[in-house]
Amino acid sequence: MWKTRRTYKYRLWPNRKQRERLGETLEVCRELYNDALQERRDAWKTCRLSVSFNMQSAQLPGCKTVCPGLDSVYSQVLQDVLHRVDKTYKAFFHRGRGFPRCKGKGWFDSFTYPQLGFSLQGNRLALSKIGNVKINLHRPVLGEIKTLTLKQENDKWYACFSCMVDTEPLPANDALVGIDVGLESFAVTSDGEIIDNPRWFRQAQAKLRRKQRHVSRCKKRSHGWRKACRQVALLHKRVFHQRHDFQHKLSREIVNAKGMIAVEDLNIQGLAKSKLAKSVHDAAWSAFIRKLAYKAESAGRWLVKVDPRGTSQQCPCGALVPKKLWQRDHTCTACGLETTRDHASALEILRRGLCLVSATPAIGGRACRSPWL
Ligand SMILES: [Zn+2]
Repeated sequence: MWKTRRTYKYRLWPNRKQRERLGETLEVCRELYNDALQERRDAWKTCRLSVSFNMQSAQLPGCKTVCPGLDSVYSQVLQDVLHRVDKTYKAFFHRGRGFPRCKGKGWFDSFTYPQLGFSLQGNRLALSKIGNVKINLHRPVLGEIKTLTLKQENDKWYACFSCMVDTEPLPANDALVGIDVGLESFAVTSDGEIIDNPRWFRQAQAKLRRKQRHVSRCKKRSHGWRKACRQVALLHKRVFHQRHDFQHKLSREIVNAKGMIAVEDLNIQGLAKSKLAKSVHDAAWSAFIRKLAYKAESAGRWLVKVDPRGTSQQCPCGALVPKKLWQRDHTCTACGLETTRDHASALEILRRGLCLVSATPAIGGRACRSPWL
């Protein structure tokens, strides 16, 4: 058994006063974020001085006397804002592009209690400097709570508890599966099962197109325009929830049934994408793999990510079977395998996955843990 980090998210029901306090806190944090960013930038521009987190954090008490707004926010929350600035800066130096930007109104939507300042009391969440906010604990918070992040999404507030949770490995299972991203369907498995995109996918897409058209016909910044924009945002949110629900259920089903799961590694850089690959589809697929990955990890299953190059052009027997994009069937002259294109790819992905696993030296007691994560 080992521990993993999990986040549990709950809806909050603040009263009007608490809602105001939450909004004010967010605004103070946003201003602090922008100021901290500005300070770093100016210090470098004028005196070639790089400002660290410790320097900025040491200034906080002094800032409070000058700017009384800061006093209304729990001090560790402010520290965490400075941590975020530090993190974005480090990430910028790491990747070498995309300088951190100031956050405009509406672009700063959360703040974090990194350690203290909050406690759960029944169906109330006591927050320092904000009050006792009603919380809908629709499921228990498991494990040891590490941090609490309060987040605003579409005018609704949520509490996200990040916890250290004990994992519960599932009983061992030697069933294997390879999964290929389908173009017409969501995915195809090496068992020949076609997992279709749910019906709501197309319905919502048609509805979205209609609503988007409505937005573009409205006069910009008019009352009707705002209303239409809001409707589009709500619909997006709805599709987002539906998609995640679908992915969670599907990944749970697969992890429960299979001991080893092979998928394509979409993170290989410089990979030539096919013309048909839609970005939406790719995004949905990588979100699905992330869900598979963490479920597989805590269930003690293997998740193997294989090189996706040419999976559709190779027969599981090893022979090359070149196909154009429009060719939906796979016919191998070497071994006589006749099946659909996506199924052949899924079989090939499984074969590559098995090669990777067998090439890995004995892993002993940790064999159940996915080593590529
Ligand atoms: Zn073959």
